[in-house]
Amino acid sequence: MKECTSCGKETQGSIKFPCPKCKNDIQRCNKCRSLSIEYKCDCGHKGP
Ligand SMILES: [Zn+2]
Ligand SMILES: [Zn+2]
Repeated sequence: MKECTSCGKETQGSIKFPCPKCKNDIQRCNKCRSLSIEYKCDCGHKGP
């Protein structure tokens, strides 16, 4: 399942990037990315 980390919805055309802290994959949809919505990783790392 590809779910956006920020909004929790299934994403299309999302981007994936490693968490700067734990290198876990973080998935974000284009909407959340363009709105700069905060993401939160399982490890507790937060970012814009
Ligand atoms: Zn999203
Ligand atoms: Zn992390």
